Amino acid sequence: MKNVVVVGAGPGGASIAYLLANRGIAVTLVERRRDFAREFRGEILMPSGIEALHQMGLGEALAQTDSHAAPDFTLYMNSKQIVAEHLDPEFFQGHPPLAISQPALLEAIVAEAEKLPRFKFERGVSVKELVEEGGAVTGVTIRDDDGDRFLPADLVIGSDGRNSVVRKHLDHGVTENSPPMDIVWCKLPCPEDWPGVKAYVGRGHLLVAYHTWDHSLQLGWVILKGTFGELRDKGIEAWIEEMARHVSPDLAAHLRAHSAAAQKPFLLDTVSDCVDSWSGPGVLLIGDAAHTMSPVGGQGVNIALRDAIVAANYLVPILNNPSTSVTEMTSALQSIEKERRIEVDYIQNLQAKPPKIVLSRAWWGEPVRRLAGFALGSQRIRRKAAQGVSAFPFGVRDVTLEV
Ligand SMILES: Cc1cc2nc3c(=O)[nH]c(=O)nc-3n(C[C@H](O)[C@H](O)[C@H](O)COP(=O)(O)OP(=O)(O)OC[C@H]3O[C@@H](n4cnc5c(N)ncnc54)[C@H](O)[C@@H]3O)c2cc1C
Repeated sequence: MKNVVVVGAGPGGASIAYLLANRGIAVTLVERRRDFAREFRGEILMPSGIEALHQMGLGEALAQTDSHAAPDFTLYMNSKQIVAEHLDPEFFQGHPPLAISQPALLEAIVAEAEKLPRFKFERGVSVKELVEEGGAVTGVTIRDDDGDRFLPADLVIGSDGRNSVVRKHLDHGVTENSPPMDIVWCKLPCPEDWPGVKAYVGRGHLLVAYHTWDHSLQLGWVILKGTFGELRDKGIEAWIEEMARHVSPDLAAHLRAHSAAAQKPFLLDTVSDCVDSWSGPGVLLIGDAAHTMSPVGGQGVNIALRDAIVAANYLVPILNNPSTSVTEMTSALQSIEKERRIEVDYIQNLQAKPPKIVLSRAWWGEPVRRLAGFALGSQRIRRKAAQGVSAFPFGVRDVTLEV
């Protein structure tokens, strides 16, 4: 019987581990954190990600997860509202975007997997290195409070995120496409009746504010990469004042009234990249380990879930077949990357565009932003723009679980 080690229980790792174990494959899922809540995790789930969970049979796990539907989108340009859309569920094919508690969702997926006889979860255990024999990966060394242990594997799946140990072991080239931005992240109490997501663009800044699953207001203040030091030097009060000047009067008043609650903003480094080849003998990368996603358009969780579906389609038949040859395994791993790259490349290119315009301090930045704001006043242009970014909610192509 073939044996798989999955490194990292984020959305990609938890879901591929569940899918494989649910189809009779022996899987050990290794997660360095004891508690999913201790790490920052993206919270917006798009229709494509929700649909992926339903296909996997995890709709009930999602239904039990704390969430808040976010079908409203409001856009302000230089403090003036230019778009206010309430998109009905039909537009989202029955799955409006959700702000979810990702830790709760991960716990629910792992709980489902733990019902399966061939699934094992090593929680609070780090993979330190991959072990090779005869040029192929044959397992991993893990470390916990009792020391180091070897876990043998016919296949190691690296779903260990942007600082992946598995990626480092593969040591393949990486193509960088990081936007020139970072995000300052902080939560405040949510105003009454805050509808979904509001974005405030203007004067080289962007503030995104959305109603979270725990009924807080999540603020993401987008800054030019490398300028967090300037902001920290000015202090929290000056930062709140800067945001207040940038937004509509209602939110400005709210920010000033709750400045005491914003004492611990933290910086999230924005990265977008893609490993040039996602596999090697006995090893495969998926999710952020293969292609780190920027936060633009809330895509990374959805893409990781869809990677897991495509990986399962190729892996289940070959892992369930005791006479699979090395060549067949290599070819399956390469096919997963080939199929997924079409969507990943497209989405990463789409994600790269808005920051260039929104954050530009070049002479043309403000005129282009004003022109875009003016154009978006027209419903016809808004519809065209929505078509242009439809890959954000729906993905680039259908992803269907076939096994
Ligand atoms: C500011 C910001 C906001 C974002 N917002 C969103 C959003 O709203 N919606 C969205 O879809 N995406 C969002 N993203 C992107 C999203 O968070 C990631 O793309 C997504 O989490 C990738 O999932 P993953 O399963 O590949 O990896 P991860 O979620 O990074 O999970 C990797 C897991 O591996 C574990 N791990 C790491 N190393 C080891 C090791 N050596 N041994 C064992 N375990 C290990 C980690 O603890 C972690 O649990 C955002 C990103 C940023 C930076």
